[in-house]
Amino acid sequence: MEYVAGAILTIDGFKKGYLGFENGRIVETGTDRSPVKPVCKGLIIPGLVNIHTHIGDSFVRKKNIDLPRDVESLVGPPDGLKHQLLSNASDEEIVEGMKDSINIMIESGTFVFCDFREGGVHGVTLLKQALNDYKVSPVVLSRPQGLCYDRDEIDSLLRCSHGIGVSSISDWSYTELEKIAKHTKRRKKFFALHACERVREDIDLILDLKPDFLVHMVKANRDDLLRVKDNDIPIVLCPRSNMFFGLKPNIKVMKQVGVDILLGTDNGMLNSPVIVDEVKFLKNQYSDVFSTDELLNMVTYRARKVLNLDCDILCPNSKAEFVVLHEKSLKPLYISLV
Ligand SMILES: [Zn+2]
Repeated sequence: MEYVAGAILTIDGFKKGYLGFENGRIVETGTDRSPVKPVCKGLIIPGLVNIHTHIGDSFVRKKNIDLPRDVESLVGPPDGLKHQLLSNASDEEIVEGMKDSINIMIESGTFVFCDFREGGVHGVTLLKQALNDYKVSPVVLSRPQGLCYDRDEIDSLLRCSHGIGVSSISDWSYTELEKIAKHTKRRKKFFALHACERVREDIDLILDLKPDFLVHMVKANRDDLLRVKDNDIPIVLCPRSNMFFGLKPNIKVMKQVGVDILLGTDNGMLNSPVIVDEVKFLKNQYSDVFSTDELLNMVTYRARKVLNLDCDILCPNSKAEFVVLHEKSLKPLYISLV
């Protein structure tokens, strides 16, 4: 049996201790010294969860294009540069880009990612091709080809994915989006969307769609955030993506209001999908707002809860799905998946 030791992340913060593991399972845990010399010492956390990616546009990173720093011109459907590049790219190019991002995620300790997959059923097929033999687990939120509701298309999408993830209410005819949201919720699948990223949007209309989570909420005011909190809906922040576009979410108010905050890396074309980099970004910018264990909880237990994944981990008999991070730099020192 092998051991790792240091501080173990729990829902209530770090506790000193060790884990003993063998054949892919945790066998024992303890709060004193490890019985034998550990293979690694540091912060022991569950495998990381990146709850918001678009890895389908990762291939753009290699092109070294000077991307416009404006949400609408870069990623707005249907004519944003991203969508033009996607429609001109071959399937092989898109799949290779996805594989690059999947490798980066695995090497940085990500065990689960939730991808907003564009391109209808074909888009989901490409992601599944890219995932082939990788051990990382995806939660795939698919998206209709066009900006309208088609019952058969939504049925097909829900058969091959975990739910639907769309751009924002500003891009859609609301009645069409409402039909998609209702259809998805009837099938008990995830429905999530971007909200209030570049403009403030009507929070009541957004909440009426019964989303499982909202991405961004940069332009939301305190009242909007209170409504989100009252409805118990988590907000996914993508701080580095926001910074690229010169956007600044009101993080202090989000924290004051007590809304559940999660973290994602957003478009693969903008940033590498290393979720710990978002943790480090917030740790540097908001050291007076968040503690390290709070930030690490967002990318482990809290994200797992929202995605309905098992939170009873890092305990005897659970799968050995953990990462050991350097206490100061948060660099991964040991990843049980690789
Ligand atoms: Zn996004």
